[in-house]
Amino acid sequence: MECPSCKLISPPNAIRCDCGYNFTSGKLEASSLSKPPISKLRFLGCNIALGVGVLSLIGGVAGISKGGTGDGGFAGLLIILGALAYRSRKKVFLGLVSSSKTRRLVEMAFLSVILCLVLLQNNVLAKIYQDPVPNLAYTGVSFEHQRAVVAR
Ligand SMILES: [Zn+2]
Repeated sequence: MECPSCKLISPPNAIRCDCGYNFTSGKLEASSLSKPPISKLRFLGCNIALGVGVLSLIGGVAGISKGGTGDGGFAGLLIILGALAYRSRKKVFLGLVSSSKTRRLVEMAFLSVILCLVLLQNNVLAKIYQDPVPNLAYTGVSFEHQRAVVAR
């Protein structure tokens, strides 16, 4: 049985199509699949964090060449690892990937590295916010990019 609304093939005894079309009444009802599709927007926070982390890392490395301490690089690494671990877990919660042993081990490794880096480093958060301008710029660019991806 083909749905006249969305052309999806349903079993012959189906009462309703996944899109919400009722074969008996011939009316489009609220879809049973009311959950919105998983968009890339759900990972916007992680992606912004990743971008900020990369920028901080680059900034920190560039700072070393100018005689700096590279503290920003440390903070950047923390953000990158944290965002990757968080994104991985979020994908599992959203059902996009299965929670494998390897995935858990990688996440735990990331979090362990973060913990070690935090213990080695004081005032990490203060250092992250020392240079907010590129971070804000990246946030804007990333948001526009994500909107373009979603709109397509
Ligand atoms: Zn349908």
